[in-house]
Amino acid sequence: LGRVESNNWDVVVVGAGAAGLMAAVRAAELGRRVLVLEKNRKPGVKILMSGGTRCNLTQACDNRGIVAAYGEQGSFLHSALASLSVEQTIRFFEEAGVATKVESTGKVFPVSNRAVDVLDALLRCLHRSGATLALAEPLGELKRVDAGFELITSQRTLSAEKVIITSGGKSYPGCGTTGDGYGWATAFGHTLVPPRPALTPLTVAADWVKQLSGITIPDVAVRVMHSDNPPHELAHARGSFLFTHFGLSGPVVLDVSRAVSGHTRPSELQLECDLLPTISLANLAEELKQRSTSAGKKLLPAILPTELPDRLHETIVTLVGMRMDRKAAEITKEERASLVRAYKGLMIPLTGTRGFAQAEVTAGGVALSEVDSRSMQSKLVSGLYLAGEVLDLDGPIGGYNFQAAWSTGWLAGSSV
Ligand SMILES: Cc1cc2nc3c(=O)[nH]c(=O)nc-3n(C[C@H](O)[C@H](O)[C@H](O)COP(=O)(O)OP(=O)(O)OC[C@H]3O[C@@H](n4cnc5c(N)ncnc54)[C@H](O)[C@@H]3O)c2cc1C
Repeated sequence: LGRVESNNWDVVVVGAGAAGLMAAVRAAELGRRVLVLEKNRKPGVKILMSGGTRCNLTQACDNRGIVAAYGEQGSFLHSALASLSVEQTIRFFEEAGVATKVESTGKVFPVSNRAVDVLDALLRCLHRSGATLALAEPLGELKRVDAGFELITSQRTLSAEKVIITSGGKSYPGCGTTGDGYGWATAFGHTLVPPRPALTPLTVAADWVKQLSGITIPDVAVRVMHSDNPPHELAHARGSFLFTHFGLSGPVVLDVSRAVSGHTRPSELQLECDLLPTISLANLAEELKQRSTSAGKKLLPAILPTELPDRLHETIVTLVGMRMDRKAAEITKEERASLVRAYKGLMIPLTGTRGFAQAEVTAGGVALSEVDSRSMQSKLVSGLYLAGEVLDLDGPIGGYNFQAAWSTGWLAGSSV
C-alpha cells in the first residue's frame, strides 16, 4: 500500500485498528478517496494480539444478542448492526478468505487460529478498495476549516472533507492507543465519559490467593460485593476463573472488572466466588453429610468435591479453620456448614485492578448522546465521525468488542 503524495482527501480515517480499517474499506469501495493515518509502523496491532493471538472476531449470536450484551449502551448499536450484522461480518471475513469456526462459548475464531489471517484479509480488502494507508504517521492536530478539516500529522498538513476518528481507547497504551481521540473530540466540545480500564485482571493482597497461582477453574459464578451493611452486589458473571501471582484473572474476572475500576474505594470490595455453581447449597450440604456418614476411617479430603483441585481444597479447609488430616466421619454439622459456605461463596478481598496497562478495553469515552447512531456523525461537528472504542462503548469478553468496532466502522464508512 504505497504512499500517495496527495494532501487533499475526501476522507481521512485516523487509526488503522478494527474500526478504522473497516471504515476505510467501506468508504473507498463507495468511491471516496480515503487516506488512513496510523501512528504505528504496523496496522491492526490489537487485532494481532487479540484472543491470545487467535482473534475472537465476533460472537455467534444475532444482533439482539450483541445489543443485550452492551446493556444500557446497546441501543446505540442498532443502526450499526443493521448496516453490518454479525452474520454479514462473518460472511465478509469468509469471502475475504478467512474460514471461521464457533467454539462452545459462542466465540467465533478463524479456523486457522491465527489472528494474522484476519488482519491480512482486511489489508487485502483495503488494498482492493483503493484506500491509502500511511503508517508511522500519527495525527497531531485536527481543526475544522471552511471546506472541511485540516489535519497536522508528524509529517505534513492534510486537508479532508470528512474525518473518521477510530483511534481507540487508552488501554494497552504500548499499542499506540493513548487516548488521542479524546483530546480532539473534547476540543470540539464533546463530552468525555471518564475512561477507566475494563476487561482487566483484579489485584488481591491476601497471600493465600497468590499461593493458588496457576489454578484454573472452568466454571465459577462471581459477584463483586461492596462491604456495606448489608453488602450489595455491583456486578456478576459466570465462566472460567484463574488464580495468578498478583490476584485473579480469566474471562469471568475480566468481565466484572469494570465495576472495580469504576469504584472510588476498591479496597471496600470483595469478590464472592461460587466455586460449584452447578450444585445448590442445600444439595452440596446433603452430599457432604452423606459422604461423611459413609466415610468410615477416611480423612476429610475423601469427602470433598472432586471437581476442584487439591491445592484449592487445602486452602479452603485452612480458611475455615480445619485440617486435612481430620477423620471425615468426625466432622460436625457446623464444620460441614462452614465448608459448604466457603465452596459456595468464597470471599476474596480485592485491592484494585491491573489498570489500563492490562485492560483489553476502555470503558468510558466520547459520550454516545452526542453522536448520531444512524451515521456515526458527531452531532456537534458536521463532517466528523467517530467509531469503535473511542466511543463510550465497552462490551463483555467473547468477540462483542470487535463486533461493535466492525459495525460502527462500517456504518461510518457508509455515511461519509
Ligand atoms: C490483549 C487484547 C486482547 C483482545 N482480544 C479481543 C478479542 O479476542 N475479541 C474482541 O472482540 N476484542 C478483543 N480485544 C478488544 C479489541 O482489540 C478492541 O475492542 C478493538 O481493537 C477496538 O477497535 P478500534 O478500531 O476502536 O481501536 P484499536 O484497534 O485500538 O485501533 C486504534 C488505532 O488507532 C491508532 N492511533 C491512536 N492514536 C493515533 C494517532 N494520534 N494517529 C494515528 N493513529 C492513531 C492506534 O495506533 C491503533 O492502531 C482485545 C484487546 C486487547 C488489548
